[in-house]
Amino acid sequence: MSEVILELKNISKKFGENYAVKNLSFKMHKGEILGFLGPNGAGKSTTMKMITGFLKPTEGEILFKEKPITLNPLQVKKQIGYLPEQNPLYYDMYVREFLIFIGKLYEIPTKELKIRVEEIITEVGLTPEAHKKIGQLSKGYKQRVGLAHALIANPELIILDEPTSGLDPNQVIEIRNLIKKIGQQKTVLFSSHILTEVEQIADRIIIIHKGEKLVDEKLTTLQQKFEGQEVVFVKFEKENIDLEEIEKHPNCKQIKKVSAVEYEFYVSESENFRKFLFEYSSRQNNAILLLEVEKTSLEQVFKKLTTQ
Ligand code: ADP
Ligand code: MG
Repeated sequence: MSEVILELKNISKKFGENYAVKNLSFKMHKGEILGFLGPNGAGKSTTMKMITGFLKPTEGEILFKEKPITLNPLQVKKQIGYLPEQNPLYYDMYVREFLIFIGKLYEIPTKELKIRVEEIITEVGLTPEAHKKIGQLSKGYKQRVGLAHALIANPELIILDEPTSGLDPNQVIEIRNLIKKIGQQKTVLFSSHILTEVEQIADRIIIIHKGEKLVDEKLTTLQQKFEGQEVVFVKFEKENIDLEEIEKHPNCKQIKKVSAVEYEFYVSESENFRKFLFEYSSRQNNAILLLEVEKTSLEQVFKKLTTQ
């Protein structure tokens, strides 16, 4: 595995009495594109603000290239590019003027800066709009200016907070492709509340809900795990089901109790399992009143995980 570029160690953030982020740990390796997925209020933005040094964790430690980010905050800000959720731009400035202004803040030498600004304008596809004022640009192009801002100092790690939110469908596709392109050269952490988006861009997914990490897995592993799984919903006539016996069935991966007589069985291949259930129910003299089979998708798993 390649070099660890970022590490969060047991990070928590409290606002008043409430945890926005709770005991969150993960590592990012150089070159990875990590999708940070969770519904609204899950704690994504709070986490990103802590990584970029705009918020202080209540507990825990964040290491960038093995050093605490608090050690040299300015250096860290140069090496971590950040596109915040509310992309703050100066609408009265021209695109080039703005990027030169930002480049100066990053202390890019004047000679280099002119060249760098032209480079970055090309890279993020701003060329046809670069002569305009930021306020005149469409939302998609404004987002490209935000990306240019995040990339101008040539940082190693890029943090993008819901980079496609509020864009029209065509702009969404363009910005997604741009992120993929950026990801070929950089380490990228981006957040989204849309699973399909994360599936299209990321190598790895972290799902957070109510500030806590629920899933941290390579996309391919996650798909193998959940795609093709089936949920068998069963309503029995009577209570007192011997779950231990059912659990032992080789295809049964997980059992969820819905009520005293209703269960959801997560199985890898249901035909065999259904035969077994009917055999079991007749042996127990406990009739099956209802049985439904549904295929799972990652989408359902995500919904299930994040709606409790
Ligand atoms: P996400 O980006 O995943 O939608 P946030 O990180 O913005 O989630 O928010 C996580 C939780 O923390 C939410 O419950 C939100 O209301 C709360 N929160 C975020 N920022 C503040 C703040 N400055 N003061 C109080 N509560 C906050
Ligand atoms: Mg957010």
